[in-house]
Amino acid sequence: MKALIFGNKTQHLLELVGFAKQLKADEVHVLAVSLGEEDVKEVAELGVNKIYLIEDKDVTTDDVVDKLIELSKSVNPDVIGGPGTRDGYEITSRLGARLNIPTVTEVVGVNIEEALTLERAAIGGRAVCIEVVKPPVTLTISLGKFKPPEEKVGAAVVEKVSVEKKGKVKIVNVEEKAKGGIDIAASPIVVGVGRGFKSKEDLELAQKLANALGGAVGCSRPIAADYGWLPEDAWIGFSGKKIRPKLYMALGISGAAEHMAGVRDANVIVAVNTDEKAPIFEQSDYGVVADLYEFVPVFLDRLKKVLSK
Ligand SMILES: Cc1cc2nc3c(=O)[nH]c(=O)nc-3n(C[C@H](O)[C@H](O)[C@H](O)COP(=O)(O)OP(=O)(O)OC[C@H]3O[C@@H](n4cnc5c(N)ncnc54)[C@H](O)[C@@H]3O)c2cc1C
Repeated sequence: MKALIFGNKTQHLLELVGFAKQLKADEVHVLAVSLGEEDVKEVAELGVNKIYLIEDKDVTTDDVVDKLIELSKSVNPDVIGGPGTRDGYEITSRLGARLNIPTVTEVVGVNIEEALTLERAAIGGRAVCIEVVKPPVTLTISLGKFKPPEEKVGAAVVEKVSVEKKGKVKIVNVEEKAKGGIDIAASPIVVGVGRGFKSKEDLELAQKLANALGGAVGCSRPIAADYGWLPEDAWIGFSGKKIRPKLYMALGISGAAEHMAGVRDANVIVAVNTDEKAPIFEQSDYGVVADLYEFVPVFLDRLKKVLSK
């Protein structure tokens, strides 16, 4: 089995190498996009065959698709894998169409005993769908599911490659998205805010709670996407960030499947909601039927007393 993997973040490439190892790939080729030599150093030590490095920061998904097709001709991969990101979905779906091969997204597991069998998260992560595919196939992996190999085995050759920018899309300017203070995906405690909050100013209450717990504030989609009260990188869920904190405290969030897909791997979920029939209570470890405006100040007060002992 030969694998060609691609990505524009070191961590994604490391996880993809982890996936390729589970695939028992005897050849792993890597296309590293918009990265530098330092960024791929760790990847090169994990027993991959070769790293093709595009250092140019202004490449589009079109350019990457063209490069992967070009590399496929020499590598002849059974699997072309990318990360489960917006770019990853776009590139693999275009590759699937251009090469006329199956495309599988959100791969969470792999088995190659009899045939290439891919497990894929379905229905917002509530079910696992088993796909038996005939290579070649292109796929995206669900991030956070495949561990990078721990053993270092020499260093692979890194070849700098250029891309021909033939696509119709041209990058004219790049602007960083507004970012929140703390990365919610890395925080062990996350306080989630939903439409139970009446105004942007009231989110201060959640921030105070997060500060007291040593955590970060995340939110449901409407808070970031519709109201713009928090930056997009605080948005949790199926179409936002998937987090796996030790504690997720959801304040005024109903528990829609699309939101819960992002917190499924949390160790403990605590929900505060005025509606005792809110779906979130069925998926929480602890449920508090209360008005968050009354509950949070009392809880904070008790928490401070407990923490000061
Ligand atoms: C394709 C698609 C993708 C989506 N992706 C995402 C995603 O990634 N993430 C996401 O979050 N959503 C996503 N959504 C939206 C999702 O379906 C829900 O609409 C959204 O999660 C609801 O947000 P909410 O729980 O904050 O609001 P609501 O559903 O309106 O819930 C607000 C809750 O607050 C409670 N409440 C009201 N006042 C108080 C109070 N004072 N104290 C305590 N509780 C109170 C109410 O009882 C209610 O349960 C997606 C939707 C679609 C169609």
